[in-house]
Amino acid sequence: MHEPTQAQPALPELLNDGLARVATARTTDELRALEREFLGKGGVIATLLAAVPSLPAEQRRAAGQGANELKSKLAEALAARERELQEQHLSAELAGASFDPTLPATPPRTGSLHPLTQVTRELEAIFTSMGYAILDGPEVERAYYNFEALNIPADHPAREMHDTFWCDRAGSLVLRTHTSPVQVRAMERLKPPFRAIVPGKVFRQETTDASHEHTFHQMEGLVVGEGITVGHLIGTLKTFLREVFRRDLEVRLRPGYFPFVEPGFELDARCPFCTKGCSVCKQSTWIELCPCGMVHPNVLRAGGIDPERWTGFAFGLGLSRLTMLRYRIDDVRHLLGGDLRFLEQF
Ligand SMILES: [Zn+2]
Repeated sequence: MHEPTQAQPALPELLNDGLARVATARTTDELRALEREFLGKGGVIATLLAAVPSLPAEQRRAAGQGANELKSKLAEALAARERELQEQHLSAELAGASFDPTLPATPPRTGSLHPLTQVTRELEAIFTSMGYAILDGPEVERAYYNFEALNIPADHPAREMHDTFWCDRAGSLVLRTHTSPVQVRAMERLKPPFRAIVPGKVFRQETTDASHEHTFHQMEGLVVGEGITVGHLIGTLKTFLREVFRRDLEVRLRPGYFPFVEPGFELDARCPFCTKGCSVCKQSTWIELCPCGMVHPNVLRAGGIDPERWTGFAFGLGLSRLTMLRYRIDDVRHLLGGDLRFLEQF
């Protein structure tokens, strides 16, 4: 029987000593030193393993196994202690005064829909629910569609009312002064009966002030069918007003002259904001809502529709104006001014 070498403590003692020192290590540097001492080249385990071949044959197997077990137990303990130290370090950092992980994150800056877009979408939803199609047309328009086809010939005084941006010297292209040219384009394309709305930008060469802008938004409405009357027109606009203002508003028709309708009207609605007069209705309790009327037979003819068989009505809602009414905006120039401080309110 060979006695174990004097300098070599028994394996259980080595293990207990190693585990105890790992458990009390306070830094990763200390852990690295312990790792070198036990597991490194020429370390405790390596020495144990190196001694195995010189042991009597019957002890070699057990001694080798013991050294390897010691190695894996210490390696495990080192790794576990290292994780522990890292977690302690992290929580110490998180506990630092300058950082509070429970604070909600800064929300990302998000945009919002332009008030005009919101109102346009709302109106589109109302009219599509009544069976209207949504049409589009060119903003640079042929003078023919902007004027002639709408019963406004070249020498017609009504052209004076439209302060037109002309796009060429020949006078054949304009920035459309209203969305009405799409009426004729629609008649050319669609077979009656049909109903359509046309939201879009229009342009007038005007001096701008709180209520005038060179670029503004309209929504044209057009219905063509058999037996369409002024009654349908009034009913449609009352329904529309009820949807927008969430209650019935009294309306009145005043005669109005527009070359492309006959008869033509101005439709007024009771001011939705007051009963005795306010700044919105200029103390009158009525607000002018939209020009409208029965489509002029000449316009139906220009669109290729037989006025003996078909009739129709048209109206022109001011989208800019409705948006201002809805949000109590007092200056039309805010709408296209591009000021984010204004737009962020919606
Ligand atoms: Zn009012």
